[in-house]
Amino acid sequence: AGGFYNVTTIDSKESNKLLGGLLASGFNEASCLSRYQSVFYRKPSPYKPSPYLISKLRNYEMLHKRCGPGTESYKEALKKLDQEHTDGFGECKYVVWVSFSGLGNRILSLASVFLYALLTDRVLLVDRGKDMDDLFCEPFPGMSWLLPLNFPLTDQFDGFNQDSSRCYGYMVENKVIDNEKTLSYIYLHLVHDYGDHDKMFFCEGDQTLLGKVPWLIVKTDNYFVPSLWLISGFDDELNKLFPEKATVFHHLGRYLFHPTNQVWGLVTRYYEAYLSHADEKIGIQVRVFDVGAGPFQHVMDQISSCTQKEKLLPEVDTLGERSHQVKTPKHKAVLVTSLNSGYSENLKTMYWEYPTTTGEIIGVHQPSQEGYQQTEKTMHNGKALAEMYLLSMTDNLVTSAWSTFGYVAQGLGGLKPWILYKPENRTAPDPACGQAMSMEPCFHAPPFYDCKAKTGIDTGKLVPHVRHCEDMSWGLKLV
Ligand code: GDP
Repeated sequence: AGGFYNVTTIDSKESNKLLGGLLASGFNEASCLSRYQSVFYRKPSPYKPSPYLISKLRNYEMLHKRCGPGTESYKEALKKLDQEHTDGFGECKYVVWVSFSGLGNRILSLASVFLYALLTDRVLLVDRGKDMDDLFCEPFPGMSWLLPLNFPLTDQFDGFNQDSSRCYGYMVENKVIDNEKTLSYIYLHLVHDYGDHDKMFFCEGDQTLLGKVPWLIVKTDNYFVPSLWLISGFDDELNKLFPEKATVFHHLGRYLFHPTNQVWGLVTRYYEAYLSHADEKIGIQVRVFDVGAGPFQHVMDQISSCTQKEKLLPEVDTLGERSHQVKTPKHKAVLVTSLNSGYSENLKTMYWEYPTTTGEIIGVHQPSQEGYQQTEKTMHNGKALAEMYLLSMTDNLVTSAWSTFGYVAQGLGGLKPWILYKPENRTAPDPACGQAMSMEPCFHAPPFYDCKAKTGIDTGKLVPHVRHCEDMSWGLKLV
């Protein structure tokens, strides 16, 4: 019986290690430790990937290997770019994700484009921008996801915008789309400032046309997954892939985004030093979009009010009236992430100066205080990624409204966060926070268009699983 027991534990350990089959086997473990080790730093996810998703990923990996950079198919496809139009299609079609915007936005948009690639049988290639290759391991076995540096259109990526002649929205608007001929490439502008014509991307008919184009180049800073569920033609497949609908980013994020060993070192050293010994870990992600230097009193008030009211952190006894001797007090570690150090200093001081009413011991930790956003610097982004990861390892999470940084943490962690609602006119809202309906990110700039009726429509009211977000009334999220 002992032997049998051992076998099953090894099996379940193996499957656990690969996140229930979500991850492919066959990687060199040492080259990317986070892929195998992150499971030891988090509670097991209650959400299991569907067998259909797993087989879809394994099929994708084969496609990627067959069509990836350097293959004959890739070379064939590159030749098509020499001409404006192309006859029929070769074996492989591609979607190129252009590196754009802050790290949280990039992670969410890349996951969206990958899902789009899965749905349309395209191969995803990643423009490495300044640092994508420093931050993330390769996710697909045996073939790179990075767009080769000599890709002929790379020089134009920065210049691509709504007015580019190959921008899909521009072509729709100017009625220059020729249904008889297939262009070799099209640029999709899905950036938050996009217009109604760009948003035609989310219509089934337009998808049929785009489906023929061998190269799609996408620039986006959005998590556009919720609107993919509203495209008939994709919804059946999505239901099969994700029977638990609000797990899309949770699974795709854990599948795609493995920090490199350098970033993983930042995560694990910090975790072991400050978090691993606590009985409970609370993450507080503070992102302030107000202009001017913080810390702001109203934000500090909001954090205390939220964490105490929701019983995430204890109140302090400022009067010294009660005795708080507890035999074995519970240790709570609070992980604060913010560009500004003031919020964690404030909490830390409060829990030093006064006892808690519960007797709990509260340690407050903040890994970095970078001051301002420095998107182009590698160590800066490495720290940002490490912090998103650390937040995802907590037991309870508080995030800031509108922040994709927080969305990444909640999704990777499988956590329904308490969202600090957005302050208006430098005043903390009441209530200060509320718990999210789901762990999914919010799509900040969704289309409001009924493609069939050709009129405006509230896309947050069409199906029960795509709703308006808690933190942004016009946004859409899966629940
Ligand atoms: P969003 O703007 O909150 O949606 O998140 P993004 O990640 O897209 O952009 C914000 C950027 O600012 C991050 O990528 C970091 O570069 C930086 N940043 C914001 N908050 C923090 C933080 O708490 N810690 C660190 N290290 N960087 C942060």
